[in-house]
Amino acid sequence: MESVDAIKKVIRTIPDFPKRGITFKDITPILSDLALLKASVQYLKKPFEDQNITKVVAIESRGFVLGPMIALELGAGFVPVRKEGKLPRETYSVAYDLEYGSGRIEMHLDSILPSDRVLIHDDVLATGGTAAAAEELVERSGAEIVGFTFLLELPAMNGRSKLHHDHTIHAVVQG
Ligand code: AMP
Repeated sequence: MESVDAIKKVIRTIPDFPKRGITFKDITPILSDLALLKASVQYLKKPFEDQNITKVVAIESRGFVLGPMIALELGAGFVPVRKEGKLPRETYSVAYDLEYGSGRIEMHLDSILPSDRVLIHDDVLATGGTAAAAEELVERSGAEIVGFTFLLELPAMNGRSKLHHDHTIHAVVQG
Protein backbone atom coordinates (compact mmCIF):
# COMPACT_ATOMS: atom_id res chain seq x y z
CA MET A 1 0.00 0.00 0.00
CA GLU A 2 1.15 3.56 -0.71
CA SER A 3 2.72 5.36 2.29
CA VAL A 4 1.41 8.41 4.15
CA ASP A 5 4.48 10.22 2.81
CA ALA A 6 3.46 9.44 -0.78
CA ILE A 7 0.01 10.90 -0.06
CA LYS A 8 1.51 13.99 1.57
CA LYS A 9 3.85 14.60 -1.37
CA VAL A 10 1.07 15.12 -3.92
CA ILE A 11 -0.97 17.63 -1.86
CA ARG A 12 -0.52 20.97 -3.63
CA THR A 13 -0.15 24.28 -1.77
CA ILE A 14 -1.68 27.23 -3.59
CA PRO A 15 -0.97 30.68 -2.14
CA ASP A 16 -3.71 33.35 -2.10
CA PHE A 17 -6.58 31.04 -3.13
CA PRO A 18 -9.53 31.57 -3.04
CA LYS A 19 -8.60 34.94 -1.46
CA ARG A 20 -5.41 36.79 -0.70
CA GLY A 21 -3.86 35.57 2.57
CA ILE A 22 -5.30 32.05 2.39
CA THR A 23 -2.93 29.18 1.64
CA PHE A 24 -5.11 26.57 -0.03
CA LYS A 25 -4.34 22.86 0.20
CA ASP A 26 -5.47 21.01 -2.94
CA ILE A 27 -6.06 17.31 -2.28
CA THR A 28 -7.42 16.46 -5.75
CA PRO A 29 -4.12 14.85 -6.96
CA ILE A 30 -4.76 12.13 -4.34
CA LEU A 31 -8.20 11.43 -5.79
CA SER A 32 -7.00 11.05 -9.38
CA ASP A 33 -4.39 8.40 -8.46
CA LEU A 34 -6.07 5.06 -7.78
CA ALA A 35 -3.31 3.71 -5.48
CA LEU A 36 -3.24 6.92 -3.40
CA LEU A 37 -7.04 7.07 -3.28
CA LYS A 38 -7.27 3.49 -2.00
CA ALA A 39 -4.53 4.05 0.59
CA SER A 40 -6.16 7.28 1.81
CA VAL A 41 -9.45 5.53 2.51
CA GLN A 42 -7.61 2.76 4.39
CA TYR A 43 -5.69 5.27 6.55
CA LEU A 44 -8.84 7.33 7.20
CA LYS A 45 -10.81 4.35 8.52
CA LYS A 46 -7.98 2.43 10.26
CA PRO A 47 -8.38 3.67 13.89
CA PHE A 48 -12.15 3.13 13.71
CA GLU A 49 -12.44 -0.32 12.15
CA ASP A 50 -13.22 -2.11 15.43
CA GLN A 51 -15.39 0.67 16.83
CA ASN A 52 -18.80 -0.48 15.56
CA ILE A 53 -19.39 2.75 13.64
CA THR A 54 -22.97 2.81 12.31
CA LYS A 55 -22.97 6.25 10.58
CA VAL A 56 -20.33 8.34 8.86
CA VAL A 57 -21.32 12.01 8.89
CA ALA A 58 -19.50 14.20 6.36
CA ILE A 59 -19.49 17.90 5.69
CA GLU A 60 -20.38 19.62 2.39
CA SER A 61 -18.82 19.62 -0.03
CA ARG A 62 -15.36 18.08 0.01
CA GLY A 63 -16.29 15.70 2.83
CA PHE A 64 -18.71 14.07 0.37
CA VAL A 65 -15.89 12.67 -1.77
CA LEU A 66 -14.23 10.29 0.70
CA GLY A 67 -17.02 10.13 3.32
CA PRO A 68 -19.16 7.53 1.51
CA MET A 69 -16.06 5.44 0.73
CA ILE A 70 -15.13 5.40 4.43
CA ALA A 71 -18.74 4.45 5.27
CA LEU A 72 -18.66 1.50 2.84
CA GLU A 73 -15.35 0.28 4.27
CA LEU A 74 -16.69 0.45 7.83
CA GLY A 75 -20.05 -1.10 6.95
CA ALA A 76 -21.85 2.08 8.05
CA GLY A 77 -24.47 4.39 6.56
CA PHE A 78 -23.62 7.84 5.20
CA VAL A 79 -25.21 11.09 6.40
CA PRO A 80 -24.61 14.43 4.65
CA VAL A 81 -24.27 17.68 6.58
CA ARG A 82 -25.19 20.50 4.21
CA LYS A 83 -25.13 24.27 4.06
CA GLU A 84 -28.32 26.07 5.06
CA GLY A 85 -31.44 25.55 2.93
CA LYS A 86 -30.26 22.53 0.92
CA LEU A 87 -31.95 19.68 2.81
CA PRO A 88 -35.67 19.30 2.03
CA ARG A 89 -37.01 17.86 5.31
CA GLU A 90 -36.87 18.90 8.96
CA THR A 91 -33.31 19.52 10.16
CA TYR A 92 -31.04 20.19 13.10
CA SER A 93 -29.33 23.51 12.36
CA VAL A 94 -26.20 25.09 13.86
CA ALA A 95 -24.66 28.52 13.21
CA TYR A 96 -20.86 28.85 13.11
CA ASP A 97 -18.19 31.46 12.47
CA LEU A 98 -16.35 31.62 9.17
CA GLU A 99 -13.29 33.70 8.40
CA TYR A 100 -15.56 36.48 7.16
CA GLY A 101 -19.02 36.47 8.74
CA SER A 102 -20.90 33.35 9.71
CA GLY A 103 -22.64 30.33 8.21
CA ARG A 104 -25.12 27.62 9.12
CA ILE A 105 -25.02 23.87 8.55
CA GLU A 106 -27.87 21.39 8.74
CA MET A 107 -28.56 17.66 9.05
CA HIS A 108 -31.85 15.79 8.59
CA LEU A 109 -33.53 15.17 11.95
CA ASP A 110 -34.24 11.51 11.23
CA SER A 111 -30.87 10.63 9.68
CA ILE A 112 -29.28 9.61 13.00
CA LEU A 113 -30.76 7.77 15.97
CA PRO A 114 -29.62 8.03 19.61
CA SER A 115 -28.38 4.42 19.27
CA ASP A 116 -25.95 5.34 16.44
CA ARG A 117 -22.16 5.41 16.80
CA VAL A 118 -20.88 8.23 14.63
CA LEU A 119 -17.64 9.05 12.84
CA ILE A 120 -17.40 12.64 11.50
CA HIS A 121 -15.30 13.27 8.37
CA ASP A 122 -14.03 16.25 6.40
CA ASP A 123 -11.08 16.61 4.03
CA VAL A 124 -9.22 19.36 5.91
CA LEU A 125 -9.17 20.43 9.58
CA ALA A 126 -8.19 24.11 9.58
CA THR A 127 -9.65 26.44 12.25
CA GLY A 128 -12.02 23.68 13.37
CA GLY A 129 -15.12 25.89 13.17
CA THR A 130 -16.87 23.64 10.66
CA ALA A 131 -16.04 20.39 12.45
CA ALA A 132 -17.14 21.85 15.80
CA ALA A 133 -20.50 22.83 14.26
CA ALA A 134 -20.92 19.30 12.87
CA GLU A 135 -20.06 17.92 16.31
CA GLU A 136 -22.84 20.04 17.82
CA LEU A 137 -25.34 18.82 15.19
CA VAL A 138 -24.62 15.18 16.00
CA GLU A 139 -24.67 15.82 19.76
CA ARG A 140 -28.19 17.21 19.39
CA SER A 141 -29.34 13.92 17.86
CA GLY A 142 -28.30 12.10 21.04
CA ALA A 143 -26.03 9.70 19.11
CA GLU A 144 -22.56 8.85 20.36
CA ILE A 145 -19.65 10.52 18.57
CA VAL A 146 -16.75 8.07 18.43
CA GLY A 147 -14.36 10.39 16.63
CA PHE A 148 -13.26 12.52 13.69
CA THR A 149 -11.22 11.54 10.67
CA PHE A 150 -9.52 14.09 8.39
CA LEU A 151 -7.22 13.62 5.42
CA LEU A 152 -5.18 16.70 6.32
CA GLU A 153 -4.79 18.68 9.53
CA LEU A 154 -3.22 22.14 9.54
CA PRO A 155 -1.84 22.10 13.12
CA ALA A 156 -0.87 25.78 13.01
CA MET A 157 -4.58 26.67 12.96
CA ASN A 158 -5.24 24.68 16.14
CA GLY A 159 -8.60 23.32 15.01
CA ARG A 160 -8.32 20.45 17.52
CA SER A 161 -8.81 22.84 20.41
CA LYS A 162 -12.38 23.55 19.23
CA LEU A 163 -13.39 19.88 19.43
CA HIS A 164 -14.31 17.98 22.56
CA HIS A 165 -11.41 16.10 24.10
CA ASP A 166 -13.24 12.84 24.69
CA HIS A 167 -13.41 12.15 20.93
CA THR A 168 -10.58 10.54 18.97
CA ILE A 169 -9.28 13.09 16.44
CA HIS A 170 -7.41 11.36 13.63
CA ALA A 171 -5.66 13.03 10.68
CA VAL A 172 -3.80 11.01 8.03
CA VAL A 173 -1.42 13.85 7.10
CA GLN A 174 -0.20 16.82 9.15
CA GLY A 175 0.40 19.84 6.93
P1 AMP B 1 -12.33 25.18 9.14
O1 AMP B 1 -11.50 26.43 9.16
O2 AMP B 1 -11.63 24.05 9.88
O3 AMP B 1 -13.72 25.39 9.63
O4 AMP B 1 -12.38 24.74 7.62
C1 AMP B 1 -13.51 24.98 6.88
C2 AMP B 1 -13.60 24.13 5.63
O5 AMP B 1 -12.86 24.73 4.61
C3 AMP B 1 -13.15 22.71 5.78
O6 AMP B 1 -14.26 21.92 5.41
C4 AMP B 1 -12.02 22.54 4.78
O7 AMP B 1 -12.40 21.59 3.82
C5 AMP B 1 -11.89 23.87 4.10
N1 AMP B 1 -10.59 24.53 4.29
C6 AMP B 1 -10.26 25.40 5.26
N2 AMP B 1 -9.01 25.84 5.12
C7 AMP B 1 -8.52 25.22 4.04
C8 AMP B 1 -7.27 25.25 3.35
N3 AMP B 1 -6.25 26.01 3.77
N4 AMP B 1 -7.12 24.49 2.25
C9 AMP B 1 -8.13 23.72 1.81
N5 AMP B 1 -9.34 23.66 2.40
C10 AMP B 1 -9.54 24.39 3.50
